[in-house]
Amino acid sequence: MTLPLLAPVPAGTPAVLLLSGGLDSATVLACATRAGYAVHALSFRYGQRHALELDRARALAARWKTVKHVVCDIDLRQFGGSALTSDVAVPKDRDERQMSAGIPVTYVPARNTIFLSFAMAWAEVLQAQDVFIGVNALDYSGYPDCRPEFVEAFAQMANLATRAGVEGTTRFKIHAPLMRLTKREIIQLGISLDVDYAMTTSCYDPAGDGTACGHCDACQLRRRGFEQAGLSDPLSYVTTP
Ligand code: ZN
Repeated sequence: MTLPLLAPVPAGTPAVLLLSGGLDSATVLACATRAGYAVHALSFRYGQRHALELDRARALAARWKTVKHVVCDIDLRQFGGSALTSDVAVPKDRDERQMSAGIPVTYVPARNTIFLSFAMAWAEVLQAQDVFIGVNALDYSGYPDCRPEFVEAFAQMANLATRAGVEGTTRFKIHAPLMRLTKREIIQLGISLDVDYAMTTSCYDPAGDGTACGHCDACQLRRRGFEQAGLSDPLSYVTTP
């Protein structure tokens, strides 16, 4: 397996990184930090039912010594439209066929477009040209804003939309180093970079004490990834396997 380890950059090269507190963004954080980037981490309190992930994001930002960690408040519950931002139930125990058929109710309308827009705004202020996002087109839940076409189109748009892009002072690049990796490969990459996955959370619908449900798409994809990697998931689940 060839892992997409990022080419080293001069130490201190500024970058903005979207940090959810999940397994994928924790892995990207490790990649970018090890490559030499001065990471400015960005998280969102968007009304998600699994707001626990923000505690994990804070811990990860501290562990990887980010230059700064900003948590933006944007309440997407005002719109609803997703099981993550309304009282719609999170689907449980879907099999692979169901997961690959269509876009599930856990899709949050325009979420990555919104998040990347905030990231570009901060990058422009920092005069940073690198933005990192942990999206993945293989082991995912069918979200349209996790596809390579979306990421490429966003980068084009960002270079048209910003002063830095138009004046040519900065050519924005959106790095999605996990795009073509399976969950197993992502976990193996993270372990090789010393990511402590006990510090992450993936569950869409955790119990009040933060214990993962074990049955939502995110839990299932995560558990399968650890199984396929031959590793044990350090998280505890409400129901044991
Ligand atoms: Zn879950």
